[in-house]
Amino acid sequence: MKKVLAKIDEITADPYRYVAHLKERTGKKIIGCFPMHVPEELVHAAGMLPVVIWRGNELVTWGHSHVPPYNCGVTRTFIDDAVKGKLQFMDGMVFHVRQCLQAGEFPLIIERNVKPAYMEILYLPPIYEGEAIKSFLLDDLILFKESLGNFSGKKITDDDIIKSIGIYNENRSLLGRIYEIRREKPEIIKAKDVMKIVWSSMLMPKEDNNELLKELISKMEKQEVKPEPDRLRIILVGGLCQTINFDILDIMEELGLIIPDDDLYVGSRYFANKITDFEKNPIKAIANRYLKKTPLCPTKSVWDIHWADEAIKKMKLNKAKGIINVIVKFCPPHTTYYPDFKSVLAENNIPELAIEVEHEIISFESLKTRLQTFTEIVGGV
Ligand code: SF4
Repeated sequence: MKKVLAKIDEITADPYRYVAHLKERTGKKIIGCFPMHVPEELVHAAGMLPVVIWRGNELVTWGHSHVPPYNCGVTRTFIDDAVKGKLQFMDGMVFHVRQCLQAGEFPLIIERNVKPAYMEILYLPPIYEGEAIKSFLLDDLILFKESLGNFSGKKITDDDIIKSIGIYNENRSLLGRIYEIRREKPEIIKAKDVMKIVWSSMLMPKEDNNELLKELISKMEKQEVKPEPDRLRIILVGGLCQTINFDILDIMEELGLIIPDDDLYVGSRYFANKITDFEKNPIKAIANRYLKKTPLCPTKSVWDIHWADEAIKKMKLNKAKGIINVIVKFCPPHTTYYPDFKSVLAENNIPELAIEVEHEIISFESLKTRLQTFTEIVGGV
């Protein structure tokens, strides 16, 4: 297990180096996909390598002249990396502009300052009732397929897409299996390692990642662990679009919390919902996955089910005692949903804590104090 985790550690410690090397090794074009909803399968079917755009690892400097400081970490660091020329290995970039205001700003800044060889903008509509949304989404995806085909010089057939969906679905199943094992014996793996595992899937060719995950699963299945029943089980929710600082996860565990499951983007949300019924019309099947209402995403304008109800279900399934909302600083979709989320948890007497996570260094001391108080409250429930 250690060997596989070390490999994943190496990839995620320096994604720039890894992806640049990947391009050299495979000779394939690299396409950066804005989180959280670009259908990577179509990029894969075009014979290119999709990688999910990540939050950078440096303090934002040059980027400040292009993007305001009150943007979220992933948007600020991506612009910063891009204008510094750190993303030259990306042949193309795909954005979807309706997700939030900050995602909407992106294409213009990138087009003016970075000028990638390929840039595509998807709309990806909100999930309102009715056929109009479905046909709009389908058109959006068909145009995307055509533009990928034009850039790659490859005519993308249904068979290509079906094959790619199969590989992506396998990846979803494997990540799901890792989560199942973790649910059964959460002591087996640290929360930061789980986040790195999911992140590795966003960076690696899925075929390679599938092999790595299979190896990891076989080790995890055999590994015996000593149960630690005194630890308090909690569920993390949110963390949209980006990894969170790994030290925060370590602090939670040091304080006696344990995370058997999550509802994080670089977590269970990334691999939720396999694509089904894709043999006849694979693009429609990709659209149907986007149209799924759960796990509820505050960027999709779904109002008939509630995010907090979904979180409570997950909490109960995992016999957890509380929920920590991980809110990315300056993320309007999560922040605007949060008051309602909190009031539903309060009505249900669910212990909850909201922590705001920031790209820049935050005060771990005050965070630790808040987490400690929360641990004491949950422990007394
Ligand atoms: S983290 Fe929030 S604000 Fe930033 S791009 Fe994602 S949804 Fe938009």
